[in-house]
Amino acid sequence: MIKRLCVIGVGLIGGSLARSLRRVQYCGEIVGCSRHREHLERAREMGVIDRFETDPAAAVKGCDVVVLAVPMGAMREVLKRIKPKLAADAIVTDVGSAKRDVLDAVAEVFGEVPPWFVPGHPVAGTERSGVDASFPSLYDDRPVVLTPVAVTAPAAVRVVSDMWENAGARVSVMDLQRHDEVLAATSHLPHVLAYTLVDTLARMDQSEAIFDFAAGGFRDFTRIAASDPAMWRDICVANSDAIVQVLEVFQGHLEEIRQAIAEGDEQRLETVFTRAKGARDRRFPPGRQS
Ligand code: NAP
Repeated sequence: MIKRLCVIGVGLIGGSLARSLRRVQYCGEIVGCSRHREHLERAREMGVIDRFETDPAAAVKGCDVVVLAVPMGAMREVLKRIKPKLAADAIVTDVGSAKRDVLDAVAEVFGEVPPWFVPGHPVAGTERSGVDASFPSLYDDRPVVLTPVAVTAPAAVRVVSDMWENAGARVSVMDLQRHDEVLAATSHLPHVLAYTLVDTLARMDQSEAIFDFAAGGFRDFTRIAASDPAMWRDICVANSDAIVQVLEVFQGHLEEIRQAIAEGDEQRLETVFTRAKGARDRRFPPGRQS
């Protein structure tokens, strides 16, 4: 049980966490915090939080667990503001999509990485934002990755892990560097590709006709390009090394495909497509949702 939980950033991710924990009555009180009073009033109206503060320092007072669920670009500023008012035994965790960048911010603000800070990342979400997009089952049976470092207290990891399990998630622990590389490949690269594809087509002369004839496959492939641009700008900046690395590998493969198409190399095309279909069917058997 958490006596008083503070969620800073009551949007899709923070709001859904609060709602999933409410479902199982895991918190005595949930305090919300963000910049805009009207967003927080809406969250309170919806029953997502019990009360709110717009000042992060006031929000964390007396809280045993603090969750940072703000955009990556706001983490540093929020850490600076909560530092003087954190309870002596408070545990702080975050939900940021890239872990090295958050840990660097923590080390910079606190002078070192404190044992009570547990880096975390729920690998769940939608392309929508804000508290109205939140829902209590977002984390049901979804992975949450914690990336503790050598100094992280095992007791703090247990508290954060128990919190996520009570939110419905499957928790695993991963090396921080590995997390950033894996997520660059499976989440950040696809977002960059979807944004770039839609932008490329939108800037073509025939763009109206192109979108008029876009079929379901195009919609499926580009759904994630409807995500919040500022959030994805922040993620690209925060995890740039790993994203650039995987983009370069991808560019190489794309060039091979371009060549095969230009040369009419049927065998090469079929080999690549068959290998890709096999890999996808093995991980996501046809007919299964997730
Ligand atoms: P969101 O729906 O836009 O929510 C962000 C929240 O942060 C809003 O409530 C916003 O409210 C608040 N906020 C923004 N800047 C702030 C600041 N400087 N100080 C205090 N509050 C601030 O975004 P989200 O999708 O929940 O993403 C939040 C975090 O989760 C990001 O770090 C993202 O990388 C990570 N994440 C996202 C997904 C996903 O699929 N969306 C998945 C996993 C992890 P105000 O406007 O009122 O300030």
